[in-house]
Amino acid sequence: MGADPDLVVVGSGFFGLTVAERAATELDKRVLVVERRSHLGGNAYSEPDPETGIEVHRYGAHLFHTSNKRVWEYVNRFTDFTGYQHRVFTIYQGRVYPLPVNLATICEFAGKAMTPDEARAWVAEHAAEIDVDDAQNFEEKGVALVGRPLYEAFFEGYTAKQWQTDPKNLPASIVSRLPVRYTFDNRYFNDTYEGLPVDGYTAWLERMADHPNIEVLLDTDWFDLRDRLGWAGEGPVVPTVYTGPLDRYFDYCEGELGWRTLDFEPEVVTTTGDFQGTPVMNYADRDVPFTRIHEFRHFHPERTTYPKDRTVIVREYSRFAEHGDEPYYPINTPEDRAKLERYRELARKEAANRRVLFGGRLGTYKYLDMHMAIGSALTLFDNRIAPWFTEGAS
Ligand code: UDP
Repeated sequence: MGADPDLVVVGSGFFGLTVAERAATELDKRVLVVERRSHLGGNAYSEPDPETGIEVHRYGAHLFHTSNKRVWEYVNRFTDFTGYQHRVFTIYQGRVYPLPVNLATICEFAGKAMTPDEARAWVAEHAAEIDVDDAQNFEEKGVALVGRPLYEAFFEGYTAKQWQTDPKNLPASIVSRLPVRYTFDNRYFNDTYEGLPVDGYTAWLERMADHPNIEVLLDTDWFDLRDRLGWAGEGPVVPTVYTGPLDRYFDYCEGELGWRTLDFEPEVVTTTGDFQGTPVMNYADRDVPFTRIHEFRHFHPERTTYPKDRTVIVREYSRFAEHGDEPYYPINTPEDRAKLERYRELARKEAANRRVLFGGRLGTYKYLDMHMAIGSALTLFDNRIAPWFTEGAS
């Protein structure tokens, strides 16, 4: 470790790196970033597959999209973006349908051509059992939005694999992540800006950390280091932004928060240069054990160096996280939410008494897309971190 830091950032995902970059550039502060893994970038990290050179997102596919102009302008300081637009298809009972549910999906499923008005009427007839405004949970919301037959085909089996939880006990907000459209537009996201970093995620993440005021310690668990940063005792410490798991910070005193984890099974296919013709294929049938297959070459059709005779695919499986597994999706059961409230209260005290702030997906127990993590880091920097230094507040 070099000179004493002015700010410690625990975790080098997008949230942590945004905070570090702002403090280093905007306030000229010395920032120490402590990262447990052997690489930067949290789950956005990617690397070339050693055999084929195809860029693989090691912790699942990351597609950048945002409607937030400030976030878009900020990220463009570190990377250019390709014109990639995300599209997803799903296989159900041996047939392929476009997602998110749109006019093509409905026509294909019903086996006939329909106008937008006819499709609306068709869905309404099959969704008559529930009004969308009354929908209280995932199942009710799903049925209200697309009608029971489409819900059962495209949501029920996939969600059973993704969450292993009765959809009646899942929040309606999960299904609301996906739009439903009565046009043939099958773009997955509705956002104004979208694309993939031209030189890959790792080049982008490294540029964020590339500043003389920023020191990154990889392979270092902050919990092993913190006493050397003056952590003993109760009083204020070096200002710290913690993006690790919230429950771990407090030594699990209120119990563990529930997470889903993902298992990725990569395979280099040597019999063809194109396995599925598209970046992501979902598998809606319950008896297929994985939820989706990613074929990474298709995220970068503009790259000419990828081999033509081989391709990299990754099957994705979902399960409950056990202690020590990588956390991906907060489950958010009522018990989780009760624990979270108690942890939030402790976090508020910690911010007030010790100058420790919590952020990011793990630090707040929220499923944040990349643009949300960056946006909330920019806001936290403006409202809470910069005043620590500019107003001399403690
Ligand atoms: N979902 C589904 N069928 C699909 C895709 C998604 O039932 O083919 C449901 C599933 O419960 C998932 C949620 O919609 O958790 C949100 O989907 P999204 O694609 O946003 O999930 P992510 O890519 O973040 O895992």
